Amino acid sequence: MNSYISFTYKEEKEVSRVYNFSAGPAVLPEEVLKEAAEEMLDYRGCGMSVMEMSHRSKVFDEIIKTAEADLRSLLNVPDNYKVLFLQGGAHLQFAQIPMNLMKNKVADYIVTGQWAKKAYNEAKLYGTANKIASSEDKTFSYIPDCSDLPISPDADYVYICENNTIYGTKFKTLPNTKGKTLVSDVSSCFLSEPMDVTKYGLIYGGVQKNIGPAGVVIVIIREDLVTDDVLPGTPTIMKYKTQVDADSLYNTPPCYGIYICGKVFKWIQKMGGLDAMKQINEEKAAILYDYLDESEMFKGTVRKEDRSLMNVPFVTDSEELNAKFIAEAKAAGFENLKGHRSVGGMRASIYNAMPIEGVKALVEFMKKFETENK
Ligand SMILES: *Cc1c(COP(=O)(O)O)cnc(C)c1O
Repeated sequence: MNSYISFTYKEEKEVSRVYNFSAGPAVLPEEVLKEAAEEMLDYRGCGMSVMEMSHRSKVFDEIIKTAEADLRSLLNVPDNYKVLFLQGGAHLQFAQIPMNLMKNKVADYIVTGQWAKKAYNEAKLYGTANKIASSEDKTFSYIPDCSDLPISPDADYVYICENNTIYGTKFKTLPNTKGKTLVSDVSSCFLSEPMDVTKYGLIYGGVQKNIGPAGVVIVIIREDLVTDDVLPGTPTIMKYKTQVDADSLYNTPPCYGIYICGKVFKWIQKMGGLDAMKQINEEKAAILYDYLDESEMFKGTVRKEDRSLMNVPFVTDSEELNAKFIAEAKAAGFENLKGHRSVGGMRASIYNAMPIEGVKALVEFMKKFETENK
């Protein structure tokens, strides 16, 4: 490399970080951030940042291909599934899914929270969306029994939101779709545990919860669902086939975000893969749930068997105490514990990158708060 400029960049600088319980964008592995910082000005000797390079360059080609290969190996993605790195977040998928898959203009939705509801409402713009089950009667605090639902005979797919970020519930068994294609939003549980990709037609998730920076959405789609037979008027860029044919490079992809996702995949591999991730996540969640079950002050809000490993909502019996807790926790270095604006209370999101020490420290803090505010 012929460089025009070379200089010493690093100065010793102390960094302090909080325990960040944000639901998303959320905590990322410190190791990944440090590595990205080191590569910021000069990515592996190429004299540029990943933000500055062509998405058609050899260097970026290697980045995106490696990211895809690592994701495939983590999730055991079979060869007849395509992996796409797209933009527009989960919200664009709410539309892109019906545009591409609603051949009969009928789809069944299981509504277990705000995100599933939004997807359901969006699908109505494109055809008949049937709400075949819901848990709205009890503020989405449980997952309905989906073993024998009235699946529509002509449904193009059955849609679920697998982990409900706002309410803290998770499907522990997938619905019986009676042979119909299953479509799942896994934004907030992506790579938190192993999953059997073959059970789905399409899996997607915004990466800003558990994998990377906002701006990337990953779609894993079975080959036979990638066709030119889409709803009339579907924009070219919204056809999965367009992106599949171009290996996610039809237009400029979110290059830097994909690069960080790739680093997180490597980090998960180093942690031992998804089996290990699951084990750590169960251990972390148990620390918090066990305390919620024994506390006189704090209570979990979700039916026990449906509890999420990733998002843990809880309340006290007074709004004032909730507010006091959130304020004191923040002062003590526990950030973003406020529940979603639609439900209030508290929520601790304990994604892959939240260290177990963070959860232990939070529970110690809650115990102390409980004693002091009896
Ligand atoms: C955050 C979230 C969304 C919305 O994601 P955007 O990227 O903001 O569109 C959708 N579904 C789930 C499960 C989420 O957690």
